[in-house]
Amino acid sequence: MISKTAFSNKSYSVLGLARSGAAAAEALLASGAKVTVWDRQDVARAPFVGRCEVADPLEMDLTGFDGLVVSPGVPLNRHPIADHAAKFGVPIIGDIELFAYARGDLPAHRVVGLTGTNGKSTTVALIHHILTMAGLPTLLGGNIGEPIMGQKALDPNANGTGVYVLELSSYQIDLSQELDCEVTALTNITPDHLDRYDGFAAYTASKARLFSMQNEGGLAVFGSLEAPAGAIFQAESVRREEDRAVAADLNALAGSQHEWPSLQGPHNLENAAVAVAIVEELGVAPAQWQHALKRFRSLPHRMELVCEEHGVTFVNDSKATNTASSAPALAAYPPIGDIRDGARRVHWIVGGLAKEDGLGACQQMLPNIAAAYTIGEAGPRFADLLDGQVPNVERCELVCEAVARARKAARPGDVVLFSPACASFDQFRDYENRGDHFRKLVGVIADEGDCEPAEFPVTDADYIKGEVA
Ligand code: ADP
Repeated sequence: MISKTAFSNKSYSVLGLARSGAAAAEALLASGAKVTVWDRQDVARAPFVGRCEVADPLEMDLTGFDGLVVSPGVPLNRHPIADHAAKFGVPIIGDIELFAYARGDLPAHRVVGLTGTNGKSTTVALIHHILTMAGLPTLLGGNIGEPIMGQKALDPNANGTGVYVLELSSYQIDLSQELDCEVTALTNITPDHLDRYDGFAAYTASKARLFSMQNEGGLAVFGSLEAPAGAIFQAESVRREEDRAVAADLNALAGSQHEWPSLQGPHNLENAAVAVAIVEELGVAPAQWQHALKRFRSLPHRMELVCEEHGVTFVNDSKATNTASSAPALAAYPPIGDIRDGARRVHWIVGGLAKEDGLGACQQMLPNIAAAYTIGEAGPRFADLLDGQVPNVERCELVCEAVARARKAARPGDVVLFSPACASFDQFRDYENRGDHFRKLVGVIADEGDCEPAEFPVTDADYIKGEVA
């Protein structure tokens, strides 16, 4: 557990005792801080009863508190706690900010902070994988894996080469003021989470703060310079020392992408280029990262190769919850040969709870699609949008129906791509549950056919443990 002696004279109220909140409360208690905790659920409060004060901060006089630690899930744009804390002048912070405060007590180390609309988890997992293979002590936290404050700090080592790699959502950045990373990175920015922000500009400004918190000598890496990411890059280039804001060099890597089985598609070239710029900054030699890229295995539910049956590849990309993240998956499988000869290869299973009105960036990828199988609440709308634009559209409603029909239609060389471009909540608990369902359906096929589905880690946390082991 990460603890800090300076917390011992402080008092914090922790609101929300799910994973990161509970870990933050435990770390503060272990550091000797005065802690008050609250969660609306009894079961979440229970482990703290008798160990510290349990009280709702909304009902409390917050005078004298050093901070109110809230979970990133609390919508501060609507929740009354924001005004209540402001009345007492108490800063609202998150577990990442506690980590920033604790850094002074940790053995010498570096921190990588990475954000972006899409590609965060893949890229931080890749950075962690390369560093691990290069023999550098490293720990992954933030939006992925175990909460950072609950983890054992990296051991001191002779030259301070340990690296904390943090995946940061915009909500986590909003709850931090002092996170000065040695390396920051942005994969890309497209509209998302607009229910939590006052428009796209406000969402962009939230991401930009990761960079403005960083010292001007630190390195900032940009995967995409498309607006509005390009504007952040420009501003940071001006503010920083020379060459400390860099665009990832996709061209330099494009020629070897065919050697990386789990990093296919234009988006993964972007992710790999960001990761390479970062690990080089941290001292990893080209021969080391080149070897590691070949050995990387995709995270569950991100263009995850489930199996091959009679030459047909089944890919689980359930994490694609918007059109911007499905588009690169569609782009990863261009037709082989002439479209007029039926060379299109992708059997696209699409639909769920739509976040946008149209096809977004997927529109440009339609020439890759042999057939679309629409599912879920947005299924009929996707079917209407795709009708006449791709050779075949099948209205399926359920994933099982879509898998069965796609399997029947696909020919050797084709890809059945489950990349819904929608949230999952109309039919599933979350994207992981949805992806597991697809895997199981493909597994049923596998039992009947000749393909052996591999054993997959079901969650990101399992994946990361496997990576470390
Ligand atoms: P995040 O953690 O930001 O949600 P993930 O790595 O989990 O990102 O990927 C989420 C989805 O976005 C997946 O469907 C994946 O195929 C797609 N994706 C990954 N990297 C990128 C990228 N650089 N640009 C666009 N989409 C991407």
